[in-house]
Amino acid sequence: MSERPLILLHQVSRSYQVGLHAVHALRGITLGISSGDFVAIMGASGSGKTTLMNILGCLDLPDRGRYLLDEIDVRHLSEDELATVRNRKIGFVFQSFNLVPRTSALHNVELPLVYAGVRAKERRERALAALDRVGLADRVHHLPSELSGGQQQRVAIARALVTRPSLLLADEPTGNLDSTSSQEILEVFDSLNAEGRTIVIITHEVEIAAHARRVIRLRDGAILDDVRTRPKLEVVA
Ligand code: ADP
Ligand code: MG
Repeated sequence: MSERPLILLHQVSRSYQVGLHAVHALRGITLGISSGDFVAIMGASGSGKTTLMNILGCLDLPDRGRYLLDEIDVRHLSEDELATVRNRKIGFVFQSFNLVPRTSALHNVELPLVYAGVRAKERRERALAALDRVGLADRVHHLPSELSGGQQQRVAIARALVTRPSLLLADEPTGNLDSTSSQEILEVFDSLNAEGRTIVIITHEVEIAAHARRVIRLRDGAILDDVRTRPKLEVVA
């Protein structure tokens, strides 16, 4: 097992300029997350959760501090290289599913593999396997509009998994779902983590965070506390 964390943030800050004012969304976050961990990032609305997720996901860069993902210092990467890191290393799940409408579940899941240059036959096989993994083998030709919210979010999870990312990042993934669908989604995350996948889930709900192995709470852009609730999985590299 590697002792080096998958994620290493050192004194990361991010501010937004709004008119004449600077909003300090993150104030000096230092944090390590190792492979196999299941981390919930909690905090009230406005505490910096999405800003942190955008940085972890290489959708945004810190304006101070360092972020190493899998030992790569993201500060030195071009836009193209950042896009490649996102495609290869990170699977995203958003509150609003972000599926392509009028496009089948299967094709939605294949899309990241199109961008990664994977050939059609392998794309299809891997997309079918990912949809099977989230329990949607019998829905692969359905359009998003023909699926329930929970099913749409499972398609989004399959899409996030299909590139075999090192890290699964989810921002309020159950925020638009009823409690039954939320439970379904949480079971998928639980079983993915039991297989050794690293998951960071952003939520303001205690019941969601209860599934994680470690809970980090943000307040005003800083870490308020960081509590291990269950041992992390030992992942064999
Ligand atoms: P959370 O996800 O915890 O609700 P955010 O990371 O979205 O918090 O926001 C943190 C702070 O940064 C908030 O005060 C918010 O208003 C501000 N903020 C977020 N995004 C922007 C932006 N694009 N421009 C200006 N301010 C922003
Ligand atoms: Mg948010």
